[in-house]
Amino acid sequence: MQLYTKILLGMLLGVVLGFLVGPNSPLLPQDGARLLPSAAIVAAPADASAPAPMSSGVQRATILEQRRVGEQEWLQVEWRLTARQLLKLERDRDTKPDTKPDTKPDHEKTPLDPNARHVGWVQRAEPSVTTYSRLGQTLVDGTEWIGRLFLAMIRMVVVPLVFFSLTVGVASLGDLRKLGRLGGRTIGLFFGTTFVALVIGLGLANALRPGAFMSPDDRARLLASYAGDATQKISDAAAAPTLVDQLIGVVPSNPIGALAAGDMLQIIFFAVMFGVALTMLDARRSKPVVQLLDNCNEAMVMLVHVAMMLAPVGVAALLFKVVGSTGLSVLMALLAYSGLVLLGLLLHLALTYGGLVTFLARLSFIDFLRAMRPALMLAFSTSSSSATLPITKECVEENIGVSNEISSFVLPLGATVNMDGTALYQGIAALFIAQIYTMDLSLGDQLSIVVSATLASVGAAGVPGAGMITLAMVLTAVGVPLEGLALVLGVDRLLDMFRTATNVTGDATATVVMARLEGDALRLLDPSEDRARPDRGFEGRLDRGASPVRPDEPD
Ligand code: ASP
Repeated sequence: MQLYTKILLGMLLGVVLGFLVGPNSPLLPQDGARLLPSAAIVAAPADASAPAPMSSGVQRATILEQRRVGEQEWLQVEWRLTARQLLKLERDRDTKPDTKPDTKPDHEKTPLDPNARHVGWVQRAEPSVTTYSRLGQTLVDGTEWIGRLFLAMIRMVVVPLVFFSLTVGVASLGDLRKLGRLGGRTIGLFFGTTFVALVIGLGLANALRPGAFMSPDDRARLLASYAGDATQKISDAAAAPTLVDQLIGVVPSNPIGALAAGDMLQIIFFAVMFGVALTMLDARRSKPVVQLLDNCNEAMVMLVHVAMMLAPVGVAALLFKVVGSTGLSVLMALLAYSGLVLLGLLLHLALTYGGLVTFLARLSFIDFLRAMRPALMLAFSTSSSSATLPITKECVEENIGVSNEISSFVLPLGATVNMDGTALYQGIAALFIAQIYTMDLSLGDQLSIVVSATLASVGAAGVPGAGMITLAMVLTAVGVPLEGLALVLGVDRLLDMFRTATNVTGDATATVVMARLEGDALRLLDPSEDRARPDRGFEGRLDRGASPVRPDEPD
């Protein structure tokens, strides 16, 4: 079975199991209660005056009984204290100012029993008390590590891969004018596609007005449920640096520090400068260095293939967690908005990328998407264009024939600054929130959405949920209330998967266009060749054992 098929099966399994046996499953009994700090556990139902003993800091509890008291629904819950909570209680019991200090000598104090079960009552009220399936949660907790391990394996390769391949790429471009031209055209294309994405997004949101579909009840419920998270995003966005700081910050004061911190723009800057310096050296000096870096690069590529062996189970575990923990009810309330974002992404994919790949890169768009399958599936499952980067690079090089010089320059830059899916989504989200607050945005306001969403998508890192944080900047730019973030937070994780896949497609599109303009001989790999030649494509690369030396490579 081909690797793509296995990954696809993994994705399907994750989604289906997430719905059927995840924490929000409609099939399993909802026998657990999730409590936010604002939830009060009391000793008796409908009596808020007496907090239940040992109930501070409880986050999850088992539901024993449900009871109606007047209008309210009460849950009797049982919990055990975790080792961490017990330690905290031990520590607090002598020092807390509002409790009477326990002045008995240590050996006479009653020890806190880790096995003791405690019982109390909470009022069922979203968002502070929500129910879930304990079995589903146990399954998520038990499998989550697989997805995290897989992601960690790929992330491990990102920094060295970008550094080695970009230095080698620039050093082999050989000619500074070519580098300048490539850089200028790439950035021009990035901005051009982001602009088109925003025009599509804003056009759709103006024409179809998704905000008009949300009922006032849903609006109040969503605002209440996600208010806390929204505050967090707002403060994250407030900490973002200004544009000038960001530009100057691209030059690392310590390149090793930049590599250690994984600061992608700084790494790109240093690798480009290092590569340029190598081209300026005498060939006798530079050749061994370039050769060494190239071999290191090949070793990183091999590591990507090793990590990809985990991909089918990895994506299953990642999707199981996301799908199992996102409630369908939020999705329904935001159906018009989510549907519009998906429609916008699809249009951008088909029209903008389809047009560029067909007419500029002169490749069949369907075959191009087929060649990019592993990267797209991974972008979807991980919601991170940075984590997907090594696979995106493998796909454009091995399956489409782009040279390392082009891919190692365009892709890391794209994964960091080119996020069309994110920009399109921010445009729609800003208008949607404004419509719900019945604000009319003028043409000037919408232009400032275009400018701020372009910058916000440049500033967003290629990690899950980054676009949501920078959305706060877009809302501020046009004076839309920031609390509105709470309205769209519930579906953010799901939409993130689609916009990341779009972002990665955008980077790959720019790469093949640049490769064509720079004269690379592009050729889509057909599946039989993939199987037959282990030095190309994804299939069978590891079976060969030895590190491949490409046939076109000089010894
Ligand atoms: N997750 C997206 C990415 O990695 C960024 C975003 O949140 O929009 O491309």
